[in-house]
Order: sequence, then structure tokens, then C-alpha cells
Amino acid sequence: MGARVVITIVLRVRALRAECGNLSGAASARRLLMPARETEAIILKTFPLGEADRLVSFFGRSSGRVRGVAAGARRVKNRYGSTLEVLSHVQLWYVERETRDLVRIQQADLLESFHKAQSDYGLSTGLAVISEISELILPEHEVSEPMFRLILLAAQEVERTGDWNLPLSYFAFWTVRLGGWLPRFDRCVACDTLFGMKPAFYDAHQAGLFCDKCRRPGTSPLHFEARNLDERFTGERLDRIEYEKSMQLGARELREAALAWIEHHLERRLITRALLETT
Ligand SMILES: [Zn+2]
Repeated sequence: MGARVVITIVLRVRALRAECGNLSGAASARRLLMPARETEAIILKTFPLGEADRLVSFFGRSSGRVRGVAAGARRVKNRYGSTLEVLSHVQLWYVERETRDLVRIQQADLLESFHKAQSDYGLSTGLAVISEISELILPEHEVSEPMFRLILLAAQEVERTGDWNLPLSYFAFWTVRLGGWLPRFDRCVACDTLFGMKPAFYDAHQAGLFCDKCRRPGTSPLHFEARNLDERFTGERLDRIEYEKSMQLGARELREAALAWIEHHLERRLITRALLETT
């Protein structure tokens, strides 16, 4: 996360604190506190906040993406334990406040831990890519059951298989598909020529797949084997797909293309993407 984002968040929290400081007494406290809500959630990211707290971004099954404060989460003895790790699957209780855009997290119980993946550098890089994309793609407060299931399934498979390659290809492909940005895999977006078994080409600056004649310099190939995974990924659940050696190149190409389309849609580079090359 960039320093500017941290500063913005800190400033916002300060401003909100100041705003709330002006309201005093029991009447205003009653007005500010809403009843506690409960949701199944996936922890997307956490940031240190002040000396003792954590700012937590979570994706709730029934709340959508929400940001909140876990008070005291940075103390040695805290009630959150390992529940606030990246992509932890938790049951979470929080309180909304009328005048704040940050909720107050009261409690988090671990439903499912991805401890192996979270504590291994290589595997945690895969989780970090899923977390960064989810954080940027998901609109605030918008529920999405397909995305919730997709993130959870991808994290479960990184943990189960000890390999992020296939889960990340599947996750990136489905994120693009659910976002509605998947181009046609059979023909050139510029001239309509069918690709057949020939390679198609993509780049990060334009949507769509191009034929050899229409492609610009600097584009990357998406071979038939990679495009062919479209059907496989659409028709089969990730945990039922056998990651055969013959799939590896295609899965990698499809992942790189999907990540390029995600970056094109977001109009920014994914920070964690470069880290994949280091694992
Ligand atoms: Zn063409």
C-alpha cells in the first residue's frame, strides 16, 4: 500500500474523530451507535492504525466490502488472535455508526484458517494477489455471492494444494468473466477473423484479443491451449480440476492475460503481480 493511501486514511480517521468529539453525552452516543450486525466474511487486508488498532477491510457475505476498526488488535494480548490474517474466513460482528464510514469490529471468530498459505512466502504472494484484486474490484457495500465463493474457493485451493498457479489462473479468469470484461476467444476484435488453432494476442492497453495481422507491437500471445481452458474453467469447479503438466503453460498464459484485462479495467498496475515472479 502506498504511503499516500495510509496518510489519507489516517487523516480521514482523525477528521472523523474530531467530528465525533463535538458530539457529547448519552443522547449523541445513542444516535451514533447502531445495533450490531453479523456476517460471514473474508479478511481482505489490514493496516496498522495508531499504536494499538488495526484498520480492516473485509468482504462480508451479507454486507459486501466494508472497512472497519479492530480496536486493540495490535496489542500482544488481543481478542482477535489470527482471525485478521489475509483471506481468513471468519464470522464477524460489527457496529455501524451513522456519522462514520468505518464500522467498529467487535468480534471475529475463525471459521477456516489458511495458516499454511499465510505463513509461507511463496503461497502468501498468491493470496496477496487475490486480496489486492478483490479489494480494488469489489464496490463498497455491494453483496456478491459469486465473488465471495470464488475468493474462498481460490484461497482454499492454494492452502490445500500448496500451489497458487492453478487457483490464481482460475480466480483471475473468473474475476474477468464475472466483471463482464472477457473478450471473445474465437475471433479478432478488430477484423473478426477466426483464430482457429492460431495464437491470439493481447496487451494491457486495450480490451480484446487480436489476430496476428491486427496486433500492435509489444502484445503477448494467448495460444489455443490457453483459450481452450475457457471451457474447462467455466464448466468445472476449481477443486475438481486436475492440474496436469500439459495445462501449465496454458494456465499461465490465461492468468497473465486475465491479470492484464483486470489492470486495463482498473486503469492501474497491480502491485502484487510483480511479486509472483519472485516466488
Ligand atoms: Zn484481426
